[in-house]
Amino acid sequence: MNERQSERSEMVAAQLRSRGIRNERVLAAMHAIPRHRFVLNEYDEAAYADQALPISCTQTISQPFVVARMAEALRLQPSDRVLEVGTGSGYAAAVLSQLAAAVYTLERHHELAAAAVAHFEQLALRNISVGVGDGTAGWPAYAPYDAMSVAAAGPQIPAALRDQLALGGRLVMPVGERSEQHLLLLERLSNGDQLYDLGTVRFVPLIGTAGWKD
Ligand code: SAH
Repeated sequence: MNERQSERSEMVAAQLRSRGIRNERVLAAMHAIPRHRFVLNEYDEAAYADQALPISCTQTISQPFVVARMAEALRLQPSDRVLEVGTGSGYAAAVLSQLAAAVYTLERHHELAAAAVAHFEQLALRNISVGVGDGTAGWPAYAPYDAMSVAAAGPQIPAALRDQLALGGRLVMPVGERSEQHLLLLERLSNGDQLYDLGTVRFVPLIGTAGWKD
């Protein structure tokens, strides 16, 4: 994972630290994961640019800052088990795999899931499990999860996801309209759920039973 390290150092300094990402484990994970391996060949040169990029199935690989912001908000411990909804390229799951014990990631497009699995194998990332299906139902077989990252935007936090969150667990998800959303952080506490608004974001739509219609 040594290729293009200097570009990642620059990315961490200019796009992440300078914008307030402080968690050293998150910064180290962003430095470790070779984002260029997850982008399409035609975007190879732009792999460390400060932007989301197109991937197959008219989806996108998230902007590095957004991946770091979501990972930081989850306050991951090395023993945590994480559910991600929206594998996409697999880049965010790879970052999360450096911060937690196990990552379970769901993708509705078979083609994207298969490409992500191949990338994880090439990079010897062995603590990631990929499932194909509607992630708005969660992945009950491995529940409960200490943390959840939803990488596509929906009209509300799906009840099934909240229910598969452990007590003390954290969930981040963009919630709002199809065009613009707020990144919400939900904490499941013994005396109720706490919601925080982390600001305006733009994500591709979450398509599914508890998301938008296709
Ligand atoms: N985390 C990704 C970015 C994913 S973009 C990365 O780092 O590249 C959002 C992804 O969510 C898309 O691939 C889209 O197909 C997927 N998606 C949308 N609705 C979904 C659903 N209900 N279940 C699973 N995946 C979904």
